[in-house]
Amino acid sequence: MSISPQTEAMRKTDSFTLFKRCLRYFLPYKLSIFFAVVFMILAGLCDAGIAWLVKPALDEIFINKNAAALKLIPLAFMLITALNAVTRLLQNYLMQYSGLKVLEVLRDEMYGKVIMLPLRFYEGTQVGMLMSRIINDVALIRASMPALVMLVRQVITLISLMGVVIYQNAALAFWALVVLPLAFFPVVYFGRRMRKLSRKGQEKMGDVSSLLQEMLSGIRVVKAFGTEEQERIRFDKENKRLLRLSLKSVLAGEFSSSVMELVGAVGIGIVIWIGGMQVIEGTSTPGAFFSFVAALVMMYDPVKKLSAANLNIQNALAGAERVFGLLDDPVLGVEKGGSREFSQPFSELRFEKVRFAYSDGTTALDELSFSIKAGERIAVVGPSGAGKTTFVNLIPRFYDPQEGRILLNGHSLTDYDLASLRSKISMVSQDSFLFNLSVADNIRYGIAGAGEKEVREAAQAAFAHEFITAMPEGYNTVIGERGVKLSGGQRQRLTIARALVKNAPLLILDEATSALDSESERVVQRALENLMHNRTSIVIAHRLSTIIGADRILVMEKGKIAAQGRHEELLQSSPLYAKLYAMQFGETKDDVR
Ligand code: ADP
Repeated sequence: MSISPQTEAMRKTDSFTLFKRCLRYFLPYKLSIFFAVVFMILAGLCDAGIAWLVKPALDEIFINKNAAALKLIPLAFMLITALNAVTRLLQNYLMQYSGLKVLEVLRDEMYGKVIMLPLRFYEGTQVGMLMSRIINDVALIRASMPALVMLVRQVITLISLMGVVIYQNAALAFWALVVLPLAFFPVVYFGRRMRKLSRKGQEKMGDVSSLLQEMLSGIRVVKAFGTEEQERIRFDKENKRLLRLSLKSVLAGEFSSSVMELVGAVGIGIVIWIGGMQVIEGTSTPGAFFSFVAALVMMYDPVKKLSAANLNIQNALAGAERVFGLLDDPVLGVEKGGSREFSQPFSELRFEKVRFAYSDGTTALDELSFSIKAGERIAVVGPSGAGKTTFVNLIPRFYDPQEGRILLNGHSLTDYDLASLRSKISMVSQDSFLFNLSVADNIRYGIAGAGEKEVREAAQAAFAHEFITAMPEGYNTVIGERGVKLSGGQRQRLTIARALVKNAPLLILDEATSALDSESERVVQRALENLMHNRTSIVIAHRLSTIIGADRILVMEKGKIAAQGRHEELLQSSPLYAKLYAMQFGETKDDVR
């Protein structure tokens, strides 16, 4: 299962529906948008007012030398300009306010959707793509409403300026306004092209982030294999593709405004020629002509901004297509649990003919049947790829089987409330993930009620207390990128302490293999013993001590349980076990304490 760049359903969605979907998010801010529009209309009228003032300024002050006009007109000019500035400021602030609020709400909603997706969606390169959607695409949508308002505003400004133009010289206006519409053709043409380029650009951006993410998380492998150059070339190739797309997009934008400028220049040339003729013939005054020209020149700005607004709307639609493609996709459901609370003590977990295949078709578990009773300690062994990890991942329902049943205390796993189910299972795996939080908060992660005493006791039982108190701020030391770095063994012991605080009856362990040196491995092993004490446990075993100490050993092969029993029995009855034993454990007898 994967998240396509655009799902099939969304590709068919027309711009209007998408736009309506975007606008729904702006609805709660309708009051600020309303006032933004009011201020916008005022600003548009101010623009026209300034153009209109050119006529009395020229005719009264410069030609008729009227002293009263000399006082009034500059004052009016200043007042209108000031009003223009204030209304613009208010309009822009209110518009940005609604846009930023929508950005916040949408990001929260996207994050909420993404964090609830079942585990299978987080595999591989999807992470970069998800990041790009939450960060970039949502930001594009934010611009949709301001762009629409901008569109309306420019139209209002245009209409009022057009009023001035017609009022001052109706005959000339006819000529000028015939030329203007020509400027709209490039707007439409380039707008379409920009939308296509923007979509491709965002997809490429997602690819680049995925690649970066892959390199950063796999940096050890890159270094170990000395493939820095190879990876650099791979990145460079993607990066160059992104560059080419961005340049195309820049070119389309620039062409759009250049063509419009050219059309504008031709229009103004014609106007000066005809208008000049009228003034020379005495059919019009210089004031009326310059007011006309001022209004006409001022029309250039809104037309240009119309193109920018159009571009923003196209970008927003391209972003909306991807954002809502993810938000509204019914296939991308949330994890669903039942309503049963897991309140009674754990008694039995049973797999009945469970079959599970990954989305790529790999069958990982094949008619697997097995059961574990309270208090048992089970070790799982098997060659790599036998399905051990998949098997334990079905227990907290990270994945659900396609066939067969998993019963917990006699009820299907799917009947249980997910949170309730997972609260009763502790998983300690090889990659001990710690958050960028304090040591104490990492230990009580997910257990809101855990106090200092519990955290300390857990740390002691996990043999972590000593190294924690040796750190600069003890339990308050922040771990991770911005805090201290820990050794592999120390990290493991913190995750063991976390499992101890969680105090779940069912424990699933994926034993660390060679990541630890034998000294810290011994400490981790002792911490694990403390953790397993009095708990039912399933351990993917890599140590001889674990298999010897287990009540039962499951030998897995090709998604099935090939044999089960105690160590000595299996040595006799299962050739696979005997082989595994010789290969994996034969030379590590010193592990047994
Ligand atoms: P083990 O833990 O015993 O090494 P796994 O449970 O990891 O085995 O894998 C069982 C089989 O499922 C293998 O064939 C493996 O390639 C496949 N597999 C594991 N994880 C995935 C995945 N996320 N997507 C597709 N196939 C997978």
